[in-house]
Amino acid sequence: MSLEVNLLSKPRFDVISIFPEYLAPLSLSLVGKARENEVIEIAVTDLRDFAEGVHRSVDDTPYGGGAGMVMSAEPWAKAIDSIASERSSHHELIILTPAGKRFNQQMAYELAQRDHLIFACGRYEGIDYRVTEHYRESPDFTVREISIGDYVLNGGEVATLVILEAVIRLIPGVIGNPASLEEESHSLLGENEEQLVEYPSFTKPAQWRGLDVPAVLLSGNHGEIARWRAEESMARTKKLAE
Ligand code: SAM
Repeated sequence: MSLEVNLLSKPRFDVISIFPEYLAPLSLSLVGKARENEVIEIAVTDLRDFAEGVHRSVDDTPYGGGAGMVMSAEPWAKAIDSIASERSSHHELIILTPAGKRFNQQMAYELAQRDHLIFACGRYEGIDYRVTEHYRESPDFTVREISIGDYVLNGGEVATLVILEAVIRLIPGVIGNPASLEEESHSLLGENEEQLVEYPSFTKPAQWRGLDVPAVLLSGNHGEIARWRAEESMARTKKLAE
């Protein structure tokens, strides 16, 4: 996995949702600061601004029958085209769906290299599949269907927040000390290049509720500490596979 993120321009993240308020956490913490410092740009678009009629409806009954409603293709296409028309770069369209490829750290690094990501947050039974098909045919778009795990959420907004947080922290200038990204779970590599999770961490006091910090961490012996951490990392990773 390449840990280098090289970007030619300021990355832009667009999110389309019928609940724009759900994306409020994007103004907080490190992501909020990165926006304030103009390291990244984020814009949230209300899908209903692209819907027609008095009720600005964005859904309809499913062809073939069945429970629930499906999000109509046209408001999605209008919103996506409008956002894309404002930037000349290639667009990565991310359609959140539990039927997509499972998100992981490798994907986070790939997405952190892109200039423009557009997140389509589905609701109800999801988005008319022709939206995926339509943009797959366009040379200006790369379409990815992504799931954040094998469970079903009510909408794609929380999944978007998860992905954005994992991606944005990899962008140069977002995290104060970029070295901290190298020693993390899923970025650490073992002797055979296998992905490892991080070793356990401890801070002061050295004794707490009858529990001692492992003595090696107080020894000042950097070689021993590195060896202990590597062993713990491997043991923890192995345990996860049990
Ligand atoms: N009927 C769909 C199915 O069974 O695959 C589930 C639709 S779900 C209730 C509504 C929306 O939530 C989806 O369109 C998607 O945007 C989002 N969503 C739900 N679970 C998700 C997951 N695990 N990963 C990413 N997005 C998810």
